Amino acid sequence: MWRSSKRGQSQVTCIACGDDVPRSDAREYDKFGDRWDRQGKEFEYLCKPCDRDRCHQPRGDLEALLEDVESNTVGTGRDAFLATYLELTEGRDSVGDR
Ligand SMILES: [Zn+2]
Repeated sequence: MWRSSKRGQSQVTCIACGDDVPRSDAREYDKFGDRWDRQGKEFEYLCKPCDRDRCHQPRGDLEALLEDVESNTVGTGRDAFLATYLELTEGRDSVGDR
């Protein structure tokens, strides 16, 4: 029962760039991270380019920061890890403590 497939339900909108893409071409994005529990949920969609971008940077720069800290504190204890972490985060301008 295919009708002509322009617009209508077969088209979804990418939440990242706002492009309309065919639903079959889009990736489902569930903000709750559980794609299998579908009841009462509305999925959001990403187009493929945006989905690829998302995979490259899953958590902003937190992972990179933690790696930095780790490599600076190899062989030292937990205190050193935390101290280095604080040092690095304090140097970032997003920490606005007057
Ligand atoms: Zn997109």
